[in-house]
Amino acid sequence: MPIQPPPAPHPSLFMPLNRPPRVHRPPKIGRNDPCWCGSGRKFKACHDGRERLPQFNHHHVAEAFRKELRRRYCSYAGEAGEPCGAEIIGAHTVQKEGGLRAISRAGKVYSLIATMGGLEKNGGRLDPRLVGIGDASVFPGFCSTHDNDLFKPIEGKDCAIGAWEALLFAYRAVSFEAFFKRAMLAVAPLFARLDEGLPVEDQELAQNMARHFHHGAVAGEAGTRARKAAYDTRVRARDVNGFSYAWTRFDGLLPLVCCGAFLPDNDLTGRPLQRLAHGTGPFEQVTLNITSYGGQSVIVFGWTGKPEGPAERFVRSYQNLGDDDRAAAAVRLGLEYLENSYLSPAWWDALTSADRRRLVRHSVETHGPRSAAVSLGLRQPVPHLRLRVIDRGGSLPTSV
Ligand SMILES: [Zn+2]
Ligand SMILES: [Zn+2]
Repeated sequence: MPIQPPPAPHPSLFMPLNRPPRVHRPPKIGRNDPCWCGSGRKFKACHDGRERLPQFNHHHVAEAFRKELRRRYCSYAGEAGEPCGAEIIGAHTVQKEGGLRAISRAGKVYSLIATMGGLEKNGGRLDPRLVGIGDASVFPGFCSTHDNDLFKPIEGKDCAIGAWEALLFAYRAVSFEAFFKRAMLAVAPLFARLDEGLPVEDQELAQNMARHFHHGAVAGEAGTRARKAAYDTRVRARDVNGFSYAWTRFDGLLPLVCCGAFLPDNDLTGRPLQRLAHGTGPFEQVTLNITSYGGQSVIVFGWTGKPEGPAERFVRSYQNLGDDDRAAAAVRLGLEYLENSYLSPAWWDALTSADRRRLVRHSVETHGPRSAAVSLGLRQPVPHLRLRVIDRGGSLPTSV
């Protein structure tokens, strides 16, 4: 075998944090001057007297977000990017029968969505709520034709996962992610109102936080939309060239199912891969699906990117885990990186509160970059979980 040069590190590892310029509230400001907050409005129509307004808080933002998540459109894009005109349905992102029902109790699972997402945090703690499996993981982001026909190969009682099946898993994940990020961007301007009713001296900090969040939401949505467009083209052409995937099948059920995509920051040995929000990208993405067939859980990764790039190296670090660590890491990844994750009530309720705290998602929005220690911790054992790997496959060599 020829000797490969070491992979070039992702450029973002050397780039400064890309953040919007801070705004400052001057001690004196004329009523007709442009407002200090950068809104473009006059001071008298913006921050003048804001401290006397009724409080506008996170609950308003969360409510607006939930409303955005109910907006209906088909994610499948035609040749010219034209939207599909067919009737929109509530499309499951995780298979209802095999995936959700298998981990449910009395037809319900715990959902993390809309209690998480950096929008409505319960003091940073995970606060799952019970939802019926008819509603869990559903988003109004596909029409009935595309939901039923396109995803048929991965919907049956069993599924042999080749490149096309893995691409379908990835496509559903990026479609959901694009839907979610669009909803976030839609509510991002509301963050600039979170200083309504706050004392004058707290408004500058609130505005700078809002600008930071908005800036991140704009970048996040643009990146997600671009990656989704590339997948649209692939799916239309059934083109799996340059698409990579890896799957692992366990001898029983993981207590979690999920569907989504994330930008890997460190690999599971704690090695940095790319620094999110540093530079302008593009960043590499990994799609992550966990579902089950015939009572056996399957984790499927999908990605496009450079050979030895951040996505490939992230997935390889998962593939290199020992069999015993893979089930635990699968559960922790679903909790750590995705919002669209659903938990087995029997499993979650049996955990101690200390166990639950240790499984809490480490939010990048709240706590800054994920440390190497957090990434390393993703391979630690999970309580009440002992599953063995029975099969694996994909486009990566099985070990390096
Ligand atoms: Zn203002
Ligand atoms: Zn459609």
